[in-house]
Amino acid sequence: MTATRKPLASHRRIVIKIGSALLVDRKTGLKSQWLDAVCADIAALKARGIDVLVVSSGAIAMGRTVLDLPSGALKLEESQAAAAVGQIALARAWSESLSRDGIVAGQILLTLGDTEERRRYLNARATINQLLKIGAVPIINENDTVATTEIRYGDNDRLAARVATMTSADLLVLLSDIDGLYTAPPHLDPDAKFLETVPAITPEIEAMAGGAASELSRGGMRTKIDAGKIATGA
Ligand code: GLU
Repeated sequence: MTATRKPLASHRRIVIKIGSALLVDRKTGLKSQWLDAVCADIAALKARGIDVLVVSSGAIAMGRTVLDLPSGALKLEESQAAAAVGQIALARAWSESLSRDGIVAGQILLTLGDTEERRRYLNARATINQLLKIGAVPIINENDTVATTEIRYGDNDRLAARVATMTSADLLVLLSDIDGLYTAPPHLDPDAKFLETVPAITPEIEAMAGGAASELSRGGMRTKIDAGKIATGA
């Protein structure tokens, strides 16, 4: 969504955020072939000397599947329990898939406070930097099990943007099951047009973005625009 497009390999440090709908199928669980393909791409980037950080959603979606919870909205404590179950499975899946390419994964679970409060921010940043230094790939998610309604990101788009600014990444990629911003939510408006490039985030652009379109997701296009603002502002 940025105006300038440079080849991926010309970047030094990339944060890749992966949405729940890409990783988890509501019925069958983890989409392991897709995960393996992403891990192969990550390995190729790392082989070129690029630092890669992953912000992975999917804990709640995985937990829902493992626990066989009914569809529909979950109460906060239900989604926290689902996240507790799902995060273990998610982290294991990343670790196993990356290990096929000889890469070690390190799990980082952050809360809003960890990215806002100076001492905790510095600690989290130091740990992430150390992981990168030893060649590991940080797999980051919000610590959904302890975050309460008032003090949480709730969506990984903005979390990924904060991680990108925190680690001085020079590229933030938000992978989703939609190819980008449309002039209106395309599942609601058949005339919606795809915008290949958004040179600046204006109030008109913000008005085009809708919320989450599936129960698997938290954010939607609105939080992706917010993430774009955080990242470009930094
Ligand atoms: N942290 C949530 C999870 O792992 C995802 C939030 C989001 O969908 O952006 O389930």
